Amino acid sequence: KELRDNDPHRFHGQGVLQAVKNVTDIIAPALKGFTLGDQLKLDTLLIKLDGTPDKSKLGANAILSVSIAGLKLLANLERKPLFLYIRDTFLPRLPLNIPRPVFNLINGGQHGSGYLDFQEFHLIPSSQLKFHQSLQLAVETVFKLKQLLKQKHLSTAVGDEGGFSPHLENNHQALNLLQQALQTSSYQLSQDIFLGLDLAANHFYQDDQYHLHDQDQPLSPSQLQTYYQELLKTYPLHYLEDPFHEEAWNTWSEFNSRLPSNTLLVGDDLLTTNPRLLKKAIQTKACNAILIKPNQIGTVSETLQTISLAKQHQFKFIVSHRSGETNDTFIADFAVGVGADYVKFGAPVRGERVVKYNRLLEIESFLLRRSS
Ligand code: PGA
Ligand code: ZN
Repeated sequence: KELRDNDPHRFHGQGVLQAVKNVTDIIAPALKGFTLGDQLKLDTLLIKLDGTPDKSKLGANAILSVSIAGLKLLANLERKPLFLYIRDTFLPRLPLNIPRPVFNLINGGQHGSGYLDFQEFHLIPSSQLKFHQSLQLAVETVFKLKQLLKQKHLSTAVGDEGGFSPHLENNHQALNLLQQALQTSSYQLSQDIFLGLDLAANHFYQDDQYHLHDQDQPLSPSQLQTYYQELLKTYPLHYLEDPFHEEAWNTWSEFNSRLPSNTLLVGDDLLTTNPRLLKKAIQTKACNAILIKPNQIGTVSETLQTISLAKQHQFKFIVSHRSGETNDTFIADFAVGVGADYVKFGAPVRGERVVKYNRLLEIESFLLRRSS
């Protein structure tokens, strides 16, 4: 629970004076004399100080910022880059790699405009590409998409996560546009490049039915499964996030049992980085991958706990930004330090996304220098 002031006369209710006051007046005095060094001890103290199951008293924004600050301070004291400090402290035997990026190049749903029901349309370069090659491909595809949109007299404005947000008629048009933009690249679709979707299906779900603009009638859960199976046959989709409502656990499990083996079925709204929900997904075989957003769960230690459970059960995990982001690069270092399989930081457009990709470039060159 992010704590906002809800004062309608100040920043449209989005102010955080109370959360800041909770850091300076409640957390800071409680930390006086506390010896840093054990992340779990720090986070346990923060969780106890809050005392609610959803961190609504002090605010997850107040708590997570202190949790991360503690980690950054220790890395600085040891004069280690943050990603290396995280790896050495929590997973000392982990090989260091840059996770495979998932680039959100078209924004729909709640993050865009037009008739796109799906929230994100991704470009996912093959794991064979080095990170700097993937980033170059994504940036070149952004320019190509812009050119195509201009030719079609469509808007080139971008949405919340930096992807284009054109007024398209339906989801197929967005996928076709993405494929068209990739045709002139020197890489091959289905071989070097794949596509992905964050359906964010909560937003087109009502009364056990799913409402899509390219369908005359709302779809039942089983009709929607057939619709997705058709999409999987038509497009080289490697990644489907939140294809069903967050409470439709049975539909998730049914769909997962029939999924092609190399397709990621990712729980974001379904799992909210929560170890309790991940346990349920493991038991019910609801999906095979989890999105990791530290501010969904609220401390570094709980995020690590969820990741460790994912690893134990061979779930892939994707360290992710939020649609509302800051210029902080913590999640870039964190993703490398914990050995994430993927990162999802939006399009390589808008400073708050670019800064995270640039940080990954820096880490990649650090790793290359070290191995040469
Ligand atoms: P959110 O969206 O940050 O608005 O929740 C990002 C996502 O769904 O992956
Ligand atoms: Zn999502």
